[in-house]
Amino acid sequence: MEVIGHHREKELISKYLNRNFPSYSFLFEGKEGIGKKLLALYTAKGFLCEKNTNFGCGECKSCRLTDNLISNIYNGTNLTYNPDIKLVSSQEGKDIKISQIREVIDFIKLKSSKGKVVIIENAEKMNMEASNALLKTLEEPPKNVMFILTTTNQNKLLPTIVSRCFKIKFKQLLKDEIYRFLTERGFSEKEAKEISAISEGSLSLFSLIKDNPKLYQLAKDFAVLMLDNNFRIEGIINLADILDKLDNREIFIIFQIVQVVLHKKTLKGDFDIESYETFLKEYEKFQQAIKSGVKKKLAVEGLYFNVKGG
Ligand SMILES: [Zn+2]
Repeated sequence: MEVIGHHREKELISKYLNRNFPSYSFLFEGKEGIGKKLLALYTAKGFLCEKNTNFGCGECKSCRLTDNLISNIYNGTNLTYNPDIKLVSSQEGKDIKISQIREVIDFIKLKSSKGKVVIIENAEKMNMEASNALLKTLEEPPKNVMFILTTTNQNKLLPTIVSRCFKIKFKQLLKDEIYRFLTERGFSEKEAKEISAISEGSLSLFSLIKDNPKLYQLAKDFAVLMLDNNFRIEGIINLADILDKLDNREIFIIFQIVQVVLHKKTLKGDFDIESYETFLKEYEKFQQAIKSGVKKKLAVEGLYFNVKGG
């Protein structure tokens, strides 16, 4: 697993690492699906490397254990991983709680040869208690500890936390970088071109598509019907019948992709802006309807007709 793009960000991080501070607090800010967590792991690898190499020598025991952790996360392996790295994240839809920060505080007290790294993903999910507990630790960080907080928006964090961190702002990925990433992962040139064109600088869409190629196709089918100037009654009835058999999770993935596609088409002028705004409004109602158990066929047809008819 390699970090794609982000040359400037890597350079900045290695400058900090070269200064050999006793402890570090980083804040990585940038869009979802852009590689913040992976680069955080490589930064941890460098910090814990026995040879003190920027993003790790890749050969020492510590580096190998960090590589195992990266493989566990991204390839689903189950290897012995680096015990000096702790990842904190929120459970789906929930806050990061004070109990999780207390675990962190215990963790950094444990003995280790090189130090400890704590990565807090989506740090804006910390509730007030958790934020305050973390703040206390950041104010007097113990030696040989690195904190890396990731967030999509630093304004959602306590300003006192933000001011204690080195801030690394992540730029969006370039279309070419995404294209290359996709072709290296077995996507055909045509698919890679199509997906990178609508990826909006991140790999979120790729993550949705890679495990669900069938859902991607269905999303494209729905978008085609939306973009057609004519009513396609048979088309939508037929598609709604297929979508009716899927579960909620699959439906939500499809319409997340539909939204990205329509947004891109709107920016390009291929979909008019009023229709897109109507779509967003109706999409919200649609999500509520699906969650409350409305028949999917009806919800899908309703979404189509309300946008096309309105
Ligand atoms: Zn190493």
